[in-house]
Amino acid sequence: MNEIANHLSEIRREIGDQVMLVAVSKNQPVGAILEAYQWGQRIFGENKVQEILAKKPWLPTDIQWHVIGHLQTNKVKYIAPFITMIQSVDSLRLLSEVSLQAQKNDRVIDCLLQIFIASEETKFGLDKQEVRELLTAIAQNPMPGVRITGLMGMASFTDDMDQVRREFRGLTSLAAELKTEFFRNDPFFRELSFGMSGDYGIAVEEGSTIVRIGTKIFGIR
Ligand SMILES: *Cc1c(COP(=O)(O)O)cnc(C)c1O
Repeated sequence: MNEIANHLSEIRREIGDQVMLVAVSKNQPVGAILEAYQWGQRIFGENKVQEILAKKPWLPTDIQWHVIGHLQTNKVKYIAPFITMIQSVDSLRLLSEVSLQAQKNDRVIDCLLQIFIASEETKFGLDKQEVRELLTAIAQNPMPGVRITGLMGMASFTDDMDQVRREFRGLTSLAAELKTEFFRNDPFFRELSFGMSGDYGIAVEEGSTIVRIGTKIFGIR
């Protein structure tokens, strides 16, 4: 077996079959993605629209693509025909553009709301108040082209695993609060996307349903 196959089977063993594995293929060539595909991986995550569009024509059509990085409103139209999930929704404006473009394609696109949970300054992600404002706005003005299926977050870049665990716990409890406040009768709001190469073990312990793993599968590039 080759290395990618070994890494994939090790990760799958560790996370179990209830957790979705998104193979993060950013900066990876088509050949590496194909290798993972040959070992059964079907879900791939990229953080740039251009990169998805460049690779997609060379790859099998049953690959499910997830956007995991900051998405500009003016790029949504390029991915709306095929994208499986947008994990990094961080504004109402972006969400309404996704809904519009999805409707143009007769689709409903699954979206996660990206929540800011880390301690360091980053530009992207909603805080607890902003996510409630966004969900209140949607409750008043529904968006038929999107289905909000959960939350996504990225822990701090730190060796302090207690801190990482606390941040994951914060996201899990926020999701539970939002479920009762906004999604009480909605069975689709159930996904929690957190956990990367360095912290997916903790993530699964803390209730993650989707892990996004790049380096541990493909190596550093
Ligand atoms: C790159 C990236 C990952 C994967 O990180 P690794 O440490 O390589 O596993 C996960 N999520 C997002 C948003 C990323 O940009």
